[in-house]
Amino acid sequence: MEETIFTKIINGTIPSKILYHDDLVTAFADIAPKAPVHILIVTNKPIPSVEHVESEDELALGRLFTVARKIAKEQGINEDGYRLIVNVGEHGGQEVPHIHMHLLGGKKLSNFGF
Ligand code: 5GP
Repeated sequence: MEETIFTKIINGTIPSKILYHDDLVTAFADIAPKAPVHILIVTNKPIPSVEHVESEDELALGRLFTVARKIAKEQGINEDGYRLIVNVGEHGGQEVPHIHMHLLGGKKLSNFGF
């Protein structure tokens, strides 16, 4: 299977601003930020989408949340709040087929525009 762009970031083949890395997940700044803070937290395992998760992935998926909370605090946005988004598939607006959570904050975010 060809490596996803996020696997290349995790491996360091593609440069990025890595904020966190452990055995299960990696976090880095989004290349096209939609808010003052926009960080992606991805599973190291290249799960294509939520439609491909298995029970064996639950530890890594839970880690996305604990790392989101840790980074929100480091970024100083934990008290004001933030948004976590996981896009799924074409209708969900998912562009990169490697499961990831968006951490967005640093300003009051508008409500969903749909
Ligand atoms: P999706 O639409 O799949 O939920 O989100 C993909 C995100 O990945 C987008 O916000 C996009 O800006 C980000 N992205 C795409 N390519 C790269 C890259 O090469 N480096 C980084 N840091 N982010 C990327």
